[in-house]
Amino acid sequence: GRINVAIDGPAGAGKSTVARKVAESLGYIYVDTGAMYRAVTLAANRSGIEPHESDRLKELVESIHIRLKPGVEGQTVLLNGEDVTQAIRTRDVTLRVSQVASHEAVRTRLVDIQRELAALKGIVMDGRDIGTQVLPQAELKVFLVASVQVRALRRYQELNENERIPLNQLEEEIAQRDHSDENREISPLTCAKDAVVLDSTELTIDQVVALILDLSRT
Ligand code: C5P
Repeated sequence: GRINVAIDGPAGAGKSTVARKVAESLGYIYVDTGAMYRAVTLAANRSGIEPHESDRLKELVESIHIRLKPGVEGQTVLLNGEDVTQAIRTRDVTLRVSQVASHEAVRTRLVDIQRELAALKGIVMDGRDIGTQVLPQAELKVFLVASVQVRALRRYQELNENERIPLNQLEEEIAQRDHSDENREISPLTCAKDAVVLDSTELTIDQVVALILDLSRT
């Protein structure tokens, strides 16, 4: 039968690529929860709301409409009907998203949406709190890690020429984001007790995907 797969881990460990490929192989739907927190952050930036403004963020998250639309070319992210798939990947959003994601009202609203999406089995969901908070009943939980050096290098190789920043700065920013995600009060990034830990430092994406597919069949 169909199951739900939760994939958590720090920034840049390869979660989204791995989760997308696993979903594709299983004929499941991929849900990128980080994209939702990014969409809220983009909406906040556009409304001139600072990441510490709790009340304004609460009002914002309760009034906007976020949708993830699965497609052959990957997932499209819609904010109030507008395609923001590219816009949520800017550095501007990346630098603010952790603080926006630390607010209870933001998490409550997005977790509700995420649970609704997973009500039908056959979901691969990636994020930081999927195995611990969003889908504690998920049949398969993976905690994907990799050294910070490798994660920074992978991100670096994905950057467009006009976005290039020094590798050590990128490493610093990733470490900073991990630190915020691991130390926030609500749903901090932690490995679920029943998750399988996979270290992708010395594995290719396809090797990680193959391991998860094996696990999904047992
Ligand atoms: O996965 P991605 O790196 O795009 O996530 C961006 C940020 O969104 C994370 O650094 C984290 O602060 C937040 N996030 C979260 N919970 C999730 C997914 C993402 O707090 N389930």
